[in-house]
Amino acid sequence: MAIIIDGKTIAGKKREEAASRTAALKKKGVTPCLAVVLAGEDPASVSYVTAKEKALLEAGMESRDIRLPAAVSEEELLALVNSLNRDVSVHGILVQLPLPAHIREDRVITAIDPAKDVDGFHPVSVGNLILGRPGFIPCTPNGVLALLEEMRIPTAGAHAVVVGRSNIVGRPLANLLVRKEINATVTVCHTGSGDLGLYTRQADILIAAAGKPGLITADMVKEGAAVIDVGVNRVPDTSAKKGFRLKGDADFDTVAEKASYITPVPGGVGPMTIAMLLLNVVSAAENSV
Ligand code: NAD
Repeated sequence: MAIIIDGKTIAGKKREEAASRTAALKKKGVTPCLAVVLAGEDPASVSYVTAKEKALLEAGMESRDIRLPAAVSEEELLALVNSLNRDVSVHGILVQLPLPAHIREDRVITAIDPAKDVDGFHPVSVGNLILGRPGFIPCTPNGVLALLEEMRIPTAGAHAVVVGRSNIVGRPLANLLVRKEINATVTVCHTGSGDLGLYTRQADILIAAAGKPGLITADMVKEGAAVIDVGVNRVPDTSAKKGFRLKGDADFDTVAEKASYITPVPGGVGPMTIAMLLLNVVSAAENSV
């Protein structure tokens, strides 16, 4: 039976670190501040930004909440980003995705000053990540690495298989895992991979980030593999108050019997994402002094 990785507790440690670095900055007269921009009222996005704002305040930081109507124009949003870029009291800018369909996300992300790009989605941040240079690392992939590190799961020489190639999870994660200091051998699977199990069965570290509930079944996992489940999927559940429950990309009960480590959903990778965001905001503020 696998060891269940307690993401909440590990995230709590990271949040404490963010709070103590914040306290040190405040002594120098600087309060780390993140501008959180939300366009529209998508329920999942509202709950994500609310959680982020709460975490910022708990760590002693400032959260500048900016709510815009879904009908906001691309030009208005770009003008807002430009004004936040110039505002020296704002250290980080987070534009919650997805944006309303009429707005080109690329244009908005590229408008953010890379020095304030705490989500790590700007092409400059992406380039730095690939080149192994200092820069902001996207929060979810960074959270996955922090879990591996905290649990002392060996990465050097390990075969890591990442299922998913999105710009926010799969791709940056694969690029981090091949860095010299991590030293994993990386396979990236996606919708064009065909027989997924052929690859996943070779994984010492299997990272599922496909957004497909229960995609990874026990027969696709090597005995003793570490399974990190990034997926957060809503599945109908009439017994739940909200009518749904959260399920990961792995079939938890059966995979847990075969794996050496596994992250639960919820309570695994999810809490790490916010913790790593806090650390990125503190870093942005530290870099500004
Ligand atoms: P996405 O839809 O942008 O990308 C999914 C990727 O998975 C694609 O690259 C696709 O090629 C691949 N894929 C889909 N079905 C597949 C299949 N059957 N076989 C092989 N590959 C397949 O999603 P995303 O934004 O990367 O998010 C992935 C999952 O992670 C979602 O469930 C999302 O909710 C979750 N997520 C969680 C956090 C967190 O904080 N825990 C953060 C971001 C995303």
